[in-house]
Amino acid sequence: MCRMALPADYHMHTPLCHHAKGEPWELAAQAVQKGLSEIGFSEHNPMIRDDWDDWHMVRDDLELYVANVEKARQDVPDLQIKLALETDYIPRHEAWVRELKEQADFDYFIGSVHYITDTFDIDNPNKKDLWTRGDINAIWEAYFERLAQAASSGLYDIIGHADLCKKFNYLPSKDPQPWYRHFLEAARDHDVAIEINTAGLRKDCQEMYPCPDLLVMAQQMGIALTFGSDAHAPNEVGSDFEGAVALARQAGYTHWRRHTKGEQEAVIL
Ligand SMILES: [Zn+2]
Ligand SMILES: [Zn+2]
Repeated sequence: MCRMALPADYHMHTPLCHHAKGEPWELAAQAVQKGLSEIGFSEHNPMIRDDWDDWHMVRDDLELYVANVEKARQDVPDLQIKLALETDYIPRHEAWVRELKEQADFDYFIGSVHYITDTFDIDNPNKKDLWTRGDINAIWEAYFERLAQAASSGLYDIIGHADLCKKFNYLPSKDPQPWYRHFLEAARDHDVAIEINTAGLRKDCQEMYPCPDLLVMAQQMGIALTFGSDAHAPNEVGSDFEGAVALARQAGYTHWRRHTKGEQEAVIL
């Protein structure tokens, strides 16, 4: 029986975000070892101000980022390597994201919500006190509201780790399904894909993003799918992809979506 090819790993980071290790050519070499035929780099975008926080690429490094991805393409020619950014969705930063798109020949943009206010990045371990002092239902609702805005913004091809709010296991007492649906309707209406992001398995929640309920709902609504390890080190490239493919199939998915310079193509899973 022939083994189906693994889908592309479209979510990977580099040292330019100051919290990842492994240069693009090292991650690319690891991808070949893992049996992947396509990957994409999606570094944390330069923010509107370099002092916004300490975990995004700075503006002046964007050129180096693009050059480093190009070097990976030269070094590992058998691998398809896409150039992308994981871009924070923050209301009022839309024009800045549009400006970023013009600065290189990008294949796709992942839109992620980490910040639900200008100062509360919900997945930051240093901000856990804002969870413990806050109203968990309200944080989840605000997260999905912003995720729906990101999907509706027209800025993104893919929405990253769609239920990141579960990361630390601060779980809501309310049924989250209406929040999922609200977000997914926006994704459907704007033809934005979601990703299965395996990094959740490496966090407190011990589960891929998104959870099976959200994934099944997305499949039933016809929303396209990509895959990402969210690698912050070479050994995380393609991490748990066999399990991710199994999860996608269980949810009813038969295809993943390839992104090439804004063009999309359904590929059999
Ligand atoms: Zn990161
Ligand atoms: Zn992220």
